[in-house]
Amino acid sequence: MNIQKSEQLYQKALQFMPGGVNSPVRACQNVGRTPLFIDHAKGCYIYDADGNAYIDYICSWGAGIFGHADPDILDAVGKACEKGLTFGTCHAGEIEFAERIQKHFPSMELLRLVNSGTEAVMSAVRAARGFTKRDKIIKFEGCYHGHSDGLLVRAGSGLLTNAVPDSAGIPHGFIENTLVAQYNDKQSVQDLFAAYPNDIACVLIEPCAANMGVIPPENGFLEFLRTITEQYHALLIFDEVITGFRLSMGGAQKKYQIKPDLTALGKIVGGGMPLAVYGGKREIMSCIAPLGSVYQAGTLSGNPIAVAAGNAALKKIEQHPEIYDLLDEISAQIETAIRKAGIAVNREGSLLTAFFTEKYPQTYADVKHADTKAYADFYGYLLENGIYTAPSQFEAMFVSTAHNEQSIQKTCDIISAYHA
Ligand SMILES: *Cc1c(COP(=O)(O)O)cnc(C)c1O
Repeated sequence: MNIQKSEQLYQKALQFMPGGVNSPVRACQNVGRTPLFIDHAKGCYIYDADGNAYIDYICSWGAGIFGHADPDILDAVGKACEKGLTFGTCHAGEIEFAERIQKHFPSMELLRLVNSGTEAVMSAVRAARGFTKRDKIIKFEGCYHGHSDGLLVRAGSGLLTNAVPDSAGIPHGFIENTLVAQYNDKQSVQDLFAAYPNDIACVLIEPCAANMGVIPPENGFLEFLRTITEQYHALLIFDEVITGFRLSMGGAQKKYQIKPDLTALGKIVGGGMPLAVYGGKREIMSCIAPLGSVYQAGTLSGNPIAVAAGNAALKKIEQHPEIYDLLDEISAQIETAIRKAGIAVNREGSLLTAFFTEKYPQTYADVKHADTKAYADFYGYLLENGIYTAPSQFEAMFVSTAHNEQSIQKTCDIISAYHA
């Protein structure tokens, strides 16, 4: 494998950016590899600066449900660019987008467009605190909700690979109101509510965890969260930044039939551009300025190019509801191949993770001691065989509609031939 150009670019990048990257997991530290510098991507393939092609199972961390450079999305973006890159004020595309989101997420009666998942979740939590006039929140160990101060506590994703459970640079005062419960463990939530019955503004959760690897919710767990939050007059926030438009057209809340009070969406909804949304019950969202006293704003919020990409992606999803069956089917083939290789695998729809753990993980405790060295070996094997997956045990594999029969077959053959 010749990656000379990537190596040169990486050396240069190190001079300018911490670790040479703009997001930590990209540095590939945990798998001991040089990050690949990408030249272009098309369909299910991503091409590095040395001209190597890989079948891509990151797809920009799930944003690319139609794979890369989808012609319909590119076309919409091109047309939007001709009209100007940013207006800094209202335009009709925002309404079309809001209408589409609400159609599929009826729980989002009022919603706001923002630029990243981090911003969406941070703002939803602020709305919950403003509405309930309470300060404490409950999150789950191993769930990742972006890098805002109060949420970088026992978070997943890159914090797990780097073995830093909490970020430095966050004053204790910012996180003392963040209570941490265990995913799929009702008692841990019950205990926190018993300790702080009148202080908890919200329970924030990835309804299907995907940032400690994929851990689906156990039967009854989300129902339990819905009931206990109502009982204590706290809000339930679903962080559907990954699961929204991935687990179904209406996300996890549709799939599991649980209606949260607030929802955050990102990744897929932007069609590959920086765009995210948060919203929920009209009564709660009426707290947001200028209607109410919770402040949240953004120079580039509702950016016309990002919105054009988002609208094109959502429109295409609406026109092709059959993609969810297709994604499920091809993901099942990969799941089978991973199992054939003797590796544990969790799958929920088109989200899956090969786990180097003793058993099929159901909780954070189960994934915590995963053999990350074994994962790194598996990762290296796949990469050298032209398959690009997340450089970390604690992420999902993302399948897109651009993964055709031939690329799936090749992937399955390579995976099932693996032995450590
Ligand atoms: C990716 C992610 C975020 C953060 O989104 P960014 O756009 O990276 O800021 C938040 N929550 C979940 C569940 C995510 O997967």
